[in-house]
Order: sequence, then C-alpha cells, then structure tokens
Amino acid sequence: MCGVIGLIGTSQASNKVLRGLSLLQHRGQDAAGILSYDESGFHYVRNLGLVENVFTAENMKSLTGEMAIGHVRYGTAGKSELRNVQPFLLNFPYGIGMVHNGNLVNFQALTHELKTKYQRQPLADSDTENIINLFAEGLSASAQMRAPAFEDISRAVSFIFQKAVGSYSIVTMVAGFGLVAFRDPHGFRPLMMGSRRSSSEKVEYAFASESSVLDFLGFEKFENVLPGELICVNLKGEVFRKTIGTQKHRPCMFEWVYFAAPQSEIEGSPVYKARIALGKKMAVTVRERMQKDDIQFDVVAPVPETARTAAIALAEELGVPYREVLIKNRYITRTFILDTQDKRDQAVQLKLAPVCSEIKDKRVLLVDDSIVRGTTSRKLIELVRMAGAKEVYFASTCPPIKHPCYYGIDFPMENELLAHNKSLEGIEKALGADGVIYQEVSALEEALFPDRKITPCMACLTGEYPTATEGVNDLIKTRNEDRCAYK
Ligand code: SF4
Repeated sequence: MCGVIGLIGTSQASNKVLRGLSLLQHRGQDAAGILSYDESGFHYVRNLGLVENVFTAENMKSLTGEMAIGHVRYGTAGKSELRNVQPFLLNFPYGIGMVHNGNLVNFQALTHELKTKYQRQPLADSDTENIINLFAEGLSASAQMRAPAFEDISRAVSFIFQKAVGSYSIVTMVAGFGLVAFRDPHGFRPLMMGSRRSSSEKVEYAFASESSVLDFLGFEKFENVLPGELICVNLKGEVFRKTIGTQKHRPCMFEWVYFAAPQSEIEGSPVYKARIALGKKMAVTVRERMQKDDIQFDVVAPVPETARTAAIALAEELGVPYREVLIKNRYITRTFILDTQDKRDQAVQLKLAPVCSEIKDKRVLLVDDSIVRGTTSRKLIELVRMAGAKEVYFASTCPPIKHPCYYGIDFPMENELLAHNKSLEGIEKALGADGVIYQEVSALEEALFPDRKITPCMACLTGEYPTATEGVNDLIKTRNEDRCAYK
C-alpha cells in the first residue's frame, strides 16, 4: 500500500505535493519522493524515510515547475532500498515519471516478458518499474514522429491493461504533454481527481489517493477516477478522459477497515461513517455471544488508533462504558512497518501502556480493526491480563482474514494468517483470550455500502479473487524475504 499525488497548473506545484504527502504519510512510511517538471526538464528528490526527513527547505527549492507528482512508499514487495523508491523516471520516450499504488499479481511473468521480448533490463525490484516500462513500450510507436497526443497516451495505457494483472492506481507525468492518471479495471485502490479555479482564473488539477488531501489543499470539486478510466490534463489545462476497460468494481474493504484516514471519503462512502457502522453491526454479534455464553462486560476499550471509532459505536450500542485503557506512545511508529518479528515484538510493548486503574478486576472487551498474524492481539491481551483484568475478550471489526492479499496489503502467506485453517476455539486459544468475536462478512459489506451498489473486494476473507492469480505463489515464495509485514 502506498499514497500517490499529482498536481498540474499551479506555480511550484511541488510545495502542494509535499503538503499532500504529509497527509498521506499513514499510507506508507518506508520512503518518499517528489518529481517536478518545467521547461528545463525533470527535478527529483527521493529517499528512504518519512516525509519530514526526506524533504528540506533547501532541496524543495530545486523542485521547480507547474507539474509535480509525489509518493509515500509502503513496501509490499522489494527491499527497503533507494532503487525501489518512487517516483520512477524514464528518459525515453519523451521523458516519463510515474507513481503507483497497488501490486501486480503477474510481476514475474511480466519481468520475464519485458526482459526477453522488449529487451528491458530491470534496475529495481518493483512492479512500478514494470508498469512504466509497459507504458514506455506503448508510447514508443509515436515517439519517433511527433510530440505525444492523448491518443498515444490512451494506446499506451491500453497496452498496460492488456498485460498487467493486479491493482494499480497511477499518476504519471509525460514531458511535453502533461499529467496522466488511471486505475486498474477493478479499481482496487482509490484515486480521486480535484479541480479548482486559482486567483489567476487558471484551473488547477490534482489527483490523490484520498479525498482528505484534496480537501486540505483547497480543491473544491472532487470525483473518483473510475475503475478502468484514464484521465489526462495537458500542459494547456485541457482535460481528456476515456474508459479503457472495466470489470466489476472491487474496491479493497481494508481501506475503510484500517488503511484510509478517517476524514477521507472513498468511492462515495465516508470512512468515519463506515467505521461507526462497523461498530454498530459488531454490537449485534457481540450481544448474541453475550446471551449465548452468559458474558458481561464492564468496559469496552479500543486498540488505538484505527479501532477507536468503531469501539465508541459498539460501546454506545451495548450500553457499556467506553474507556481508553491502552495509551499510545506517540513517538513509536506503526509496528507493521518494522521488518522483523523481533522488532515488532518489542515495538508492541513500547507502543502501548495499560491504564491499570481502569482494567483491574474488570471484564474487558478489547476492540481492534482486524486480526492478521495475531502477534499484536496476543501481546495486548497478555498486557491487559497482567494489568489485572478479570476477563479479556477480543472483538475484530473485520471478519477472519484467512487468505493472502495479492493486491497490495501485506499479509500474503497463508500459513502466517492466524485464522487460516483454524476454528474459533483454536483462535481463542492461540490468542489467550477468554473469547474472540468477529464481524460477519455480510455485516461488513453493509457497513461499507448500505445500498449494496458496490461489492468490495473481500478475497482475503472469502478466497474469491477478482483477478486471475496464476503464478502468484512463486511470486510470494521468492519475495517473502524482502517485504515488510503488517501486524
Ligand atoms: S484481498 Fe483483502 S486486503 Fe487485498 S485488496 Fe482484497 S479486500 Fe483488500
């Protein structure tokens, strides 16, 4: 998972891109980069680390021009190395810069094809490099003759759609042409477009992973880049759009459950509202379990931060006091970003401290957004027990995650998933909980899209993948060592 942004039609566009990246930091903390463009060419700053560490007042001065793209990286594939940090840049044809949020299922087959058929040698270990190479191949036909036109861009994006399987929300700059944005035919990852009239009456355009960024930057009109849609804004400010190819829309349910900022709205469904609904629906299942097993709770407590909204709604529905019994150390980064199990184990203890006075002799219902490996959940249950809780139950607002994700969330190995091939009793035992209560799949669907107009991707829950998954097991085997890990 990553965050992308692109802007055109505003002086020193990189400054706004930088502000946007700060708001997208929750989508990736591994690395950050900005690429800008003006008549003198491309200008580039990228490095490993957080946005605030990568960019300085000094290096921002070099990012001149009215067009810029930016990226925050969350490494689902490829090591945490400078060669994998985006934006990616190619000098031929025309000059292309690209940022990508997503993950290709057929990465290995594509790399092989690009090497053997198109004689393109990979320089990084990144599916974005495959996509930029495909785009370049698609554009090459027109490059000898003239400056790029919308038809050429459209042909190049069609070429990507023919070859790439997986998730890709992309913003690209083409030198001499303008800004190009497109989403894969299923629209797994979000991408929004905003526009506004500046003081000089010029229209500025922006593309970003989340609406909160466009809002913050003062863009008034937002719309989704639709699944399979291509939108271009050229250097004169003219907008061109075309549907290249659509499949059933399958936005990732995990955006609402965990990933997106609560103030964002994705596919027309506000994230905060969805999390409230998740809490309310969870209350139905919790109440059933309370009746069945004759359980009472003294306290409902969230695992900070993502589960807070749902926990408040759940506590309200149950009529049980809501207490924040785990206090977050705000100077410790998210544990899933750390790359070894040892580091993650230590980080959980450093990150959250129990409030003993609110826990001692209480029956506590801990609420988290999800349980993936169970590492964090197990430690938290232990922590709350050691702080004196009489009973510790654990509620997950996401149903059991039993299958790998191939579309950009980093829990790809089946045998690493706590719920894979385990009964509820087995899960409760593994976590050391008095009980574990999961959201129902249908309740999750309803919480995100009450009108049922969109069926989100839930492949990690159901095993029903929206795309072909051929070759993906080899990919997992070879790349497992290289990746970071969620929870
Ligand atoms: S498999 Fe799960 S995490 Fe991956 S895109 Fe689908 S819903 Fe999201």
